[in-house]
Amino acid sequence: MAEALFATLREGFAGRERERFLETPDGRVWTYVDLLDRSAAYARMLRGFGLEPGDRVAVQVEKSPENLCLYFGCVRAGGVYLPLNTAYTLAELAYFLGDAEPKVVVVRPGHVEEVGRLVPAATVLALDDKGRGSAADAADVAAGPFEDVLREADDLAAILYTSGTTGRSKGAMLTHRNLASNALVLKDYWRVTAADVLLHALPIYHTHGLFTATNTMVAAGGAMLFMPKFDLDEVFRLLPRATLMMGVPTFYTRMLSDPRLTREAVAHMRLFVSGSAPLLAETHRAFFERTGHAILERYGMTETGMNSSNPYDGERRPGTVGLPLPGTEIRITDPATGRPLPTGAIGMIEVKGPNVFKGYWKNPEKTAAEFRPDGFFVTGDLGRFDERGYLSIVGRGKDLVITGGLNVYPKEVEEAIDALPGVFESAVIGVPHPDFGEAVVAVVVPEKGASIDEASILGALAHTLAGFKRPKRVFLVEELPRNTMGKVQKNVLRERYRALFAATG
Ligand code: AMP
Repeated sequence: MAEALFATLREGFAGRERERFLETPDGRVWTYVDLLDRSAAYARMLRGFGLEPGDRVAVQVEKSPENLCLYFGCVRAGGVYLPLNTAYTLAELAYFLGDAEPKVVVVRPGHVEEVGRLVPAATVLALDDKGRGSAADAADVAAGPFEDVLREADDLAAILYTSGTTGRSKGAMLTHRNLASNALVLKDYWRVTAADVLLHALPIYHTHGLFTATNTMVAAGGAMLFMPKFDLDEVFRLLPRATLMMGVPTFYTRMLSDPRLTREAVAHMRLFVSGSAPLLAETHRAFFERTGHAILERYGMTETGMNSSNPYDGERRPGTVGLPLPGTEIRITDPATGRPLPTGAIGMIEVKGPNVFKGYWKNPEKTAAEFRPDGFFVTGDLGRFDERGYLSIVGRGKDLVITGGLNVYPKEVEEAIDALPGVFESAVIGVPHPDFGEAVVAVVVPEKGASIDEASILGALAHTLAGFKRPKRVFLVEELPRNTMGKVQKNVLRERYRALFAATG
């Protein structure tokens, strides 16, 4: 069973140290020897700055292979890796750094002084998008052999702050066991081997690109084509050399919008995986028609790593997130009472397993509130199991609309709207309403050139949805606001449309 993270991953490439670990778009190759040497240099450098086991290393830098070596170096040195989205402002950084109290902080060049003022007790170093800077220089000086600091399975390997769409974001404490077990399970479940080459276009400050993608590939001893970001031209240039891709749904919709996506272009691909946000059944079908590949959708979150996945061999059901992964239990409960619900009922998704995090950093109250006494974590996602055991996500609990005392699941209304001719996609939200408490409001993106309007949409929905589920207003927009992981920002929509609705509704 999985124990210390790096020791576990290391077994994955044992005997293949001279093989390719990753390649950057300019053709530069890093072998596993390079990964070992460079992560050892970072580990020695961190220890040299006084890092003790359990100390945090906060990192807000652009994606690069050096950044990955810093991550592995931190874990090998017994530190707790804390990646931060590059979009966070200095004010946001002040909160994270104040909360996490890191020993070492690595930021982009130009930010060292201002960040240094926030954390006078920490060592602040720089790393740029090319992997250069004072952090890399210090690692050069520290280079040499390194014996990994011993860590127990239950010790922390990382803290990842949740995106915080409700209230302040919280630090999810992830242990060595959490990360190691998930990497091994995913490697087996998705049949990842040393022969695989992953097209890596995700950010690595998030669980998807850092753990799901990178840890799994290292656990298999495979290789990565390591792109600084998602770029369609680069994706189509590099795709012929890949066998595997992991992405957010927007990667796939963007690829579909490009005529270069053909059967020939992906003939050598083994698997496309999607997650972090719902993949429309429509996108799944369109991708299959164009390429012959059924995208494999899975479900996870920062706090838990991956929970469920469509099968590799069996049917990959569009609109579902598949079956519980081996070792992970998933149940659906009544959100109010926590009582398990029968198959088919919509309720709260709860999970338990070696992948589930240890709790929220410095927040025992929040941790206690989100775990059941029998150890299940209350995810905040609403879902349902079908008769074949496939899980579907109906939305976040907080996105549920309660109108006139009746529950409306946004996904059901969105599916009804998306099925109408001329509709590309939609988002359904609840906004305050004087009589009903909340009113259902739909924000709809028409297909290019389609002539649809509010009246035609509402008229069509009258045939498919009960009155209380039908939107009180429909607003047409060119695109939906999304965050970098492709999630529709319903909090932004609620803010935007509550006033508009009050004025016009
Ligand atoms: P994060 O912590 O940023 O990874 O976000 C986790 C959340 O993303 C989950 O709680 C879900 O609400 C959502 N999510 C992840 N994967 C999927 C998926 N395949 N379908 C729908 N929602 C998803």
